[in-house]
Amino acid sequence: MSVSSIFKKDLLAIGCGPSNLSLIALWIGAGQSGSVILDRSSSFTWHSGMQLPGAELQVSFLKDLVTLADPTNPYSFLSYLKSTGSIYRTLVASRYSVSRKAFEKYYNWAINRLEAVEFNTEATAITMGTDGFHVETNSGRYVASNVSVGIGKKPYVPNFDDPDRTRYHSANFMERAPASYAGQDICVVGGGQSAAEIVEYLLNLPTPPATIHWICRRPMLLPLDDSPFVNEIYTPAFAEYFYSLPEAARARLNESLKMTSDGISMRTLESLYSRLYRNNIETESHTSVHLKCSCEVLNVAKRHEGRRSVTTRNTLTDFREEFDCDKVLYATGYRYETPAFLDGIATLLTFLPSGEICLNEDFSARLKTSKKARLFLQNAGVSQFGLADQNLSLSAWRSAKIVNSILGREYYTLDKESVATSFPLSQQGAPHSRKIAV
Ligand SMILES: Cc1cc2nc3c(=O)[nH]c(=O)nc-3n(C[C@H](O)[C@H](O)[C@H](O)COP(=O)(O)OP(=O)(O)OC[C@H]3O[C@@H](n4cnc5c(N)ncnc54)[C@H](O)[C@@H]3O)c2cc1C
Repeated sequence: MSVSSIFKKDLLAIGCGPSNLSLIALWIGAGQSGSVILDRSSSFTWHSGMQLPGAELQVSFLKDLVTLADPTNPYSFLSYLKSTGSIYRTLVASRYSVSRKAFEKYYNWAINRLEAVEFNTEATAITMGTDGFHVETNSGRYVASNVSVGIGKKPYVPNFDDPDRTRYHSANFMERAPASYAGQDICVVGGGQSAAEIVEYLLNLPTPPATIHWICRRPMLLPLDDSPFVNEIYTPAFAEYFYSLPEAARARLNESLKMTSDGISMRTLESLYSRLYRNNIETESHTSVHLKCSCEVLNVAKRHEGRRSVTTRNTLTDFREEFDCDKVLYATGYRYETPAFLDGIATLLTFLPSGEICLNEDFSARLKTSKKARLFLQNAGVSQFGLADQNLSLSAWRSAKIVNSILGREYYTLDKESVATSFPLSQQGAPHSRKIAV
């Protein structure tokens, strides 16, 4: 492609992750063409920094790219297993849960079959033209009347003095792992799934660290709430109910249901607890593990010879402590950020107090223009659609909604599936869902 090339598309997706792969699989499944997915990476990996041995998918494999919206679509996980001759073996090996690696392979299989992904192509700016959105990339300009942004979230680390704080975020854990941790004092910050997986990984190394300081702000290592009634928040009925609520109520609900997404899976907790027990009882030269809960890191600073000093505070007693270590690993999560490439159309967008772009029920941005062009945002609406917006649970449903909306008809039938809990749409309606003048 030459830098001056111009490409016209009906549907242009920015970011090749599960969100946009699902959208394009369902777009093609609806008999449509003229779509492309752009990704700045050179190839697809699914959270490669956390592809630890044995890491599992935290949801059912039925929450693949398409099945929950259209079980007959050929881009399902079961189609992938069938095409690789591994359907029975996978069922026997994993029953209902599969490995994170298996899903990465599945996504790559879908990418190869979809033939719609342009790698090494970064979206740098979007403007509104007379013929739709103009999307500037390092490989030329794309013009499209429908754009879907699915660029995921950014690794988050508090603003400590540690110059390596972004380098050693869990998102890069496997890539940045040294040849050996033998004899090292390691500090792991965070009390969620990634931190637990990292600690277990370190303990299982043939030459594990000498010490692990594990700092966790929560009162204990808390389990992921995966119980049946609570799991109904990962349904379309709940997402629609949530969307209809006033903003303050939505924020309260997300806070109170946090452990359905931020806790540690029971399997990881059980295997980690056994591993720590064996580490203490059975191993001759065991790793010394200091798990400190209700404890927050105040700062990490550089010391001599590359060491770090960590200052912590017990949130219950206000007791402050300082210790040295060789490396700090940050499992401090991810945050949504409005991408800079939207700056050129920022005046057309409406922002909510949560910082999110205000979305319509079909996941399109509420644009202050009478032009037909539409900008969809995926995995960017937790404060509007609930916690499910950031995981795989509703991605097929969300994609099907977007396809229906672009086509202007209900190609995919999205009648509400039945749920046990009653989720009555709010009578008063969410303030942000009221019409705005353009
Ligand atoms: C370690 C980990 C494990 C997870 N496991 C699960 C799980 O088991 N179950 C579950 O439901 N959820 C899980 N999640 C949450 C969520 O489902 C995943 O993060 C999922 O990958 C989100 O998909 P996405 O397509 O929205 O974004 P991403 O997968 O983050 O993909 C975004 C893509 O956009 C590209 N990009 C960014 N900017 C640009 C640009 N300017 N131009 C072009 N391309 C760009 C990036 O290169 C990237 O490929 C997990 C999250 C993490 C971090």
